[in-house]
Amino acid sequence: MTTPVLEAQPLRNCPFCPRLAAYREAQQNAHPEWFNAPVPPFGDEHAELLIVGLAPGLKGANRTGRPFTGDYAGGLLYQTLCKFGFAEGVYDARPDDGLALRRVRITNAVRCVPPQNKPDPAEITTCRRFLTAEIATLPRLRAMLALGAIAHQTVLAALGLHRGLFPFVHGRVHELPSGLVLADSYHCSRLNTNTGKLNVTMFESVFAALTRRLDCPNHNSRGELLRGGPGPPLARE
Ligand code: SF4
Repeated sequence: MTTPVLEAQPLRNCPFCPRLAAYREAQQNAHPEWFNAPVPPFGDEHAELLIVGLAPGLKGANRTGRPFTGDYAGGLLYQTLCKFGFAEGVYDARPDDGLALRRVRITNAVRCVPPQNKPDPAEITTCRRFLTAEIATLPRLRAMLALGAIAHQTVLAALGLHRGLFPFVHGRVHELPSGLVLADSYHCSRLNTNTGKLNVTMFESVFAALTRRLDCPNHNSRGELLRGGPGPPLARE
């Protein structure tokens, strides 16, 4: 029996979610100069860290065509990536700003912009095939960062893991059976920062834990030596 090949990138006019396809078409008519299509991942094709958000923002990634580019959440995310050495250049909220990611790739659980930033559960499930395929294209992947509970649950489902075993907790770094780690953060949205659910210190703490983990693969995020001795337990070939 042959294993089916998963398509990592949807078609520009992907029809799998009728509600989102209709919303996309409405935006194409209203704003023909915008991207208005499934937003592809951005970053290092040999990434060790995959960051997963929820879905493109209407005037952010849906407008510019690059994840987290052009809205408030992107400002905080890219500023943090630059601070921790995961990005080179200057983020200028444009897909042609020359920013380059190092060791990191960014995508969303849902590739098309949803009305009110709220994809339906069926849409999240339908689009998961592209996240699953994206993960499979990253041979050096060692860690994932879920921005928000929906991204967290979608990552677990894409990896075939039961969400009950790994509850979403901001700041937690889960050790997954495959050797991957999954870090959780509240989404870096304007709403979360305005309400104080997430602040810059909290967000940077997550990246500090991930950086320690990526730079010292035989130790967990608390600095403890992992079982298995000095080998590279997080390598995933
Ligand atoms: S959200 Fe994903 S599956 Fe749904 S229409 Fe867009 S690209 Fe296709």
